[in-house]
Amino acid sequence: MDGHAAVRIRSGRLEAVRDSWYHPPMNAPLSAIPWNSPALWQAANASVLTLLRQNRTALGTARRSAGRLRYVLEQVFPIMENLCRQTCTACTDVCCRRAWVWIDFKDLLFLHLAGIPIPEAQLLRRQGDHCRYAGPHGCRLERIQRPFVCTWYVCPAQSHLLAKHPEGKQRLSSLLSQIKAQRRRMEDAFIRAVA
Ligand code: SF4
Ligand code: SF4
Repeated sequence: MDGHAAVRIRSGRLEAVRDSWYHPPMNAPLSAIPWNSPALWQAANASVLTLLRQNRTALGTARRSAGRLRYVLEQVFPIMENLCRQTCTACTDVCCRRAWVWIDFKDLLFLHLAGIPIPEAQLLRRQGDHCRYAGPHGCRLERIQRPFVCTWYVCPAQSHLLAKHPEGKQRLSSLLSQIKAQRRRMEDAFIRAVA
């Protein structure tokens, strides 16, 4: 926990919360997951859309920040694709079938600010469920639509591969740090604009 101030949407209003560098507790109850019902998901998205509409001009910095974030994320995707090609096809314990992760506020904000199609619902529906987007041939979301936790996760098999390529590992680590910082900048710019 790094103590960075962040926000979430609850009942259509912004609330300050403590943010963590995304270590979602695997035993978190469903109630701890934001917007975990169709109604809450719809309300959260409607709230963000309203704020974007009401603060269109003031949100220029946040939009540019989201654009920069998209650029850095897209540097990471080929690295992850390459790792997945070497590991996922033969995997017998697919991480998405047991992941207890979700779209957080920064993820949702990024999707809206960058004009990326919003997933139809939060990842999880029920306690003990697995991600609704995990299909027989992998994730049904485009990489750019997935929560950041799905981008940065490197499983043990992939970690083993990366260990053989220190330069590649260093580059990935640097890009992920940039993304983390850029997510904060985007959120901060958003808060300044709508406050
Ligand atoms: S990322 Fe790792 S754990 Fe997940 S499906 Fe691929 S090989 Fe399996
Ligand atoms: S969104 Fe996609 S990558 Fe993330 S847990 Fe769900 S299926 Fe896996």
